[in-house]
Amino acid sequence: MSDNIEKVKCLIIGSGPAGYTAAIYAARANMNPVLYQGNQPGGQLTTTNDVENFPGYPEGITGPEMMLQLQAQAERFGTDIRNGWITKVDFSGDVHKVWVNDETEIHSDTIIISTGASAKYLGLESEQKYLKLGGGVSACAVCDGFFYRNQEVVIVGAGDSACEEAHYLSKLCKKVTMLVRRDEFRASKIMAERVKNTENIEILYNTETDEVLGDGQVVTGVRVFNNQTKEKQEIPATGFFVAIGHKPNTDIFKDYLDLDETGYIINAKPGTSKTNIEGVFVSGDAADHVYRQAITAAGTGCMAALDAERYLAAKDASFEVNTATNY
Ligand SMILES: Cc1cc2nc3c(=O)[nH]c(=O)nc-3n(C[C@H](O)[C@H](O)[C@H](O)COP(=O)(O)OP(=O)(O)OC[C@H]3O[C@@H](n4cnc5c(N)ncnc54)[C@H](O)[C@@H]3O)c2cc1C
Repeated sequence: MSDNIEKVKCLIIGSGPAGYTAAIYAARANMNPVLYQGNQPGGQLTTTNDVENFPGYPEGITGPEMMLQLQAQAERFGTDIRNGWITKVDFSGDVHKVWVNDETEIHSDTIIISTGASAKYLGLESEQKYLKLGGGVSACAVCDGFFYRNQEVVIVGAGDSACEEAHYLSKLCKKVTMLVRRDEFRASKIMAERVKNTENIEILYNTETDEVLGDGQVVTGVRVFNNQTKEKQEIPATGFFVAIGHKPNTDIFKDYLDLDETGYIINAKPGTSKTNIEGVFVSGDAADHVYRQAITAAGTGCMAALDAERYLAAKDASFEVNTATNY
């Protein structure tokens, strides 16, 4: 091994709520964590203005502000936070190897993967415009549905998640129009039935989005077209929800870790953060296709740091857990 290769006890990949929480716990347990932020420092929450459901902020907080606070908390205990993108890993040996920006090689006893997932969007210019403005486009009904109470919204998607989100919105909104591209749902029968039986959900089959309409600041409606008849119509709406799936950021791990068919990392032992490779742990949305919330990401970040700490303690008797400050 070259002398130039940096050797660390704990390397955290990702700077969302999972990564920063793992860093807070790992730093307080004497693991001297190094955290790579990736190309989205602060993670997905930096793309939203209002976070109203993270405990501890009774007045709500903006996503970027909250993530700066998490970063400061991780730094306070000595986390070494760095810019950089992990481009390659090698988990075949006892020591786990990672490469930063295809250049720097680092060896780490433990790895905590917190690389999150990215919501898929349709890619329409108007959709992206109002998404960036924070003006009514969202990929998370549980996060943003509350802002559309008693209003009319449109949701795109036909799978189980789309049905669940449409049903969630129906309890808050006056009317939910659901756009289904084919002449049937992709979702399980039970989920589809639940949506079909909800009074304030209107389902438009064979229907796709032509354009998200707005006044330059916020969404005012959606123009849709029937892909059989080509007929267009405009639906008034203040919210446009996209529920066509997520892509976990896990491609670089696929040669070593067990992933499900979508790419989510599979927990080797349910109820822990362990993967199929000893010393490699996962937290947050990279392994979670069910909850996908900041608080659950933070919770599993804590679990990953504690699991990593116990792994180190079992492997190396000289590693002393800093029990005085950790709990
Ligand atoms: C618009 C929007 C609004 C939301 N609102 C809320 C809300 O109000 N409340 C709520 O609880 N949840 C909300 N969510 C969901 C929440 O943001 C996620 O559940 C949470 O951020 C997941 O945290 P995470 O740490 O797992 O990953 P992420 O936040 O996705 O962070 C992933 C991190 O990994 C890094 N990364 C990825 N690949 C690499 C790599 N190869 N090398 C280095 N770094 C890498 C990225 O740069 C990023 O820093 C919202 C999501 C979106 C998109």
